[in-house]
Amino acid sequence: MLFDFSRKKTKKIKIGNVEIGGDAPVSIQSMTNTFTEDVDATVKQIKQLEKAGCEIVRVAVPNEEAADAVPAIKSRINIPLIADIHFDYRLAIKAVQNGIDALRINPGNIGNINYVKAVADIAKENKIPIRIGVNSGSLSREIKKKYGVTPKALVESALEHVSILEKLNYHEMKISVKASSVPFTLEAYRLLSSKVDYPLHLGVTESGTEFKGNIKSAVGIGTLLAEGIGDTVRVSLTENPVSEIRTAKEILKSLNLRPGLELISCPTCGRTKIDLINLAKNVEKKLMIFEDLPITVAVMGCPVNGPGEAAEADYGIAGGEGEGLIFKKGKIIRKIPEEHLISDLIELIKKDFMSY
Ligand code: SF4
Repeated sequence: MLFDFSRKKTKKIKIGNVEIGGDAPVSIQSMTNTFTEDVDATVKQIKQLEKAGCEIVRVAVPNEEAADAVPAIKSRINIPLIADIHFDYRLAIKAVQNGIDALRINPGNIGNINYVKAVADIAKENKIPIRIGVNSGSLSREIKKKYGVTPKALVESALEHVSILEKLNYHEMKISVKASSVPFTLEAYRLLSSKVDYPLHLGVTESGTEFKGNIKSAVGIGTLLAEGIGDTVRVSLTENPVSEIRTAKEILKSLNLRPGLELISCPTCGRTKIDLINLAKNVEKKLMIFEDLPITVAVMGCPVNGPGEAAEADYGIAGGEGEGLIFKKGKIIRKIPEEHLISDLIELIKKDFMSY
C-alpha cells in the first residue's frame, strides 16, 4: 500500500545536473573526510560514494591547495561537487573559477559587504547555488544574546544570511538549520519552512557514531520529510561516509520517497526452527545487487504462517526444519532444502528481471 506525503513546493535550484526543490525528488548527499588536496584519496572516496548512490558530494575547502584541486577532482567524478568554505571569500571565488558546482558559505561570516558581493556576483554569473548552513554551534554573539541558543536563533541567523544575499539580488539558495538534538532540529526546520520558500537541506548534525547516529538521523530527517519538509538530505555520521548514503536511502525508501528494494523479515518466535537472524542478514547482503528494484522481499521464520504474514511481499522465503519454502505474492512456489533457499530466491528474481 502506498501512502504519499504531500511535500511543500519550494523554489527549484540546480546543482550541476541535479535539481533540488520544486517537484524534484529528494536528493542524497554526503561529504568527504579526506584532505581535499589529496586528489587521489578524495576521488577514490567520491567514487565509493557514487557507487553507494550519493548524488551530490561536498568537500572541505579550507585553503588554496584544496581550491586548486577542484578541476582535477571534477574531471574524474560523475556527481556535482560542492565546496564547503568558512569565511574566506577568496577561496569561494577561486572554487567557482575552478568549476565548482555549488558553494556552502554563510555570507554574514565573510564580513566586508564588497567581498560578499564579489562572491554573489561570480556565483550568479556562473549559475552556482549557495547553501546557507547555520548550526547551533555557530551562532553569532548578537543572535545568542537576543534569542539564546534556540531554534528561533538558528532561523533568525539563517534569515539574516538570506537577506544579505537577497539584497544583492542573489536568490539561488538552499538553507540548513541543523542541531545535534532532534527536537531542536525539528522545531528549527518547521519554523524555517514556514518563513521561506527556498529548498531546505536536512540533517541532524554531529549525530554521533553509526548506531545512535542512524537512529537520530532517521527520526529527525524522517519526521520532517513525513511533514513534507525537506528537499535534499545529508546523514552525518562519525563513520565512513558511504554508511551515510545507505542510511539516507533507507530513510527515503521507508517513506516511499524513493523506489527500491524493501526487505521485510519476521521477528522470530517459538515456531522458528531455522537460524533466521543469519539467514536474513545473508539475504540482505546478497540482494544488494537488486537495491534499485522496486520490490519487497520477505524472509520469514516458519512455513505455516510465513507466506500468509508476508502476503504483500513480491518474493519471499520461509524457513522450516532443514528445508524451506519459496513464495511469490503469498503463493507457495516450491519446497527446497534450506541451503538452496537464498540461491533459488536470487535466481527467481533474476529470471523475472532479466537484465540483472
Ligand atoms: Fe513466528 Fe512464523 Fe510469524 Fe515468524 S512468521 S513470527 S516464525 S509465526
